[in-house]
Amino acid sequence: MSKKRGSRNRRTPAGADWPRCSCGCQAVLRPAGEVCGGAKPGTMAYVCPRYPECDSYVLARSDTQKPMGTLAWPELRRLRRAAHVSFNRLYESGLMTKREAYRWLSGIVQAPMAYAHIGYLGEYYCRVVIEESEKLLARNTPKEPKSSQTEGRERYASTYRRGTKAG
Ligand SMILES: [Zn+2]
Repeated sequence: MSKKRGSRNRRTPAGADWPRCSCGCQAVLRPAGEVCGGAKPGTMAYVCPRYPECDSYVLARSDTQKPMGTLAWPELRRLRRAAHVSFNRLYESGLMTKREAYRWLSGIVQAPMAYAHIGYLGEYYCRVVIEESEKLLARNTPKEPKSSQTEGRERYASTYRRGTKAG
């Protein structure tokens, strides 16, 4: 246990990759219930130390305690929730598999797969994801189930699923 400390851990006790608030402060880990309602007991959140003056936080994963993205202020939290709803419908509707949806997201936000998560998005890309998801869904949701066109669309959707390797 006498390993030399790497320079990696020298900057701050929590490590250089410890989440920061957009105001520049290093986040503190607090019970999520202190900042948002509806969080499961035991859930933690990375919160700006200036909270509530600076109302920014992000939830931590319950298994690893790692942040689920970057700290978000109220408007960004609202946009991320909306983006999640639209994005989830891409695979919940059967239009894509979940894997395909994340690959699509990766292309839309021009980020590698590891960072293609709503929790990393800023306001601009949240709006892009909402817009593009809604466009795709509108194009692929049959409006009137009476015509034979509907059947064609469904056949197209299943072909699309089959034709794409989903891992
Ligand atoms: Zn802050």
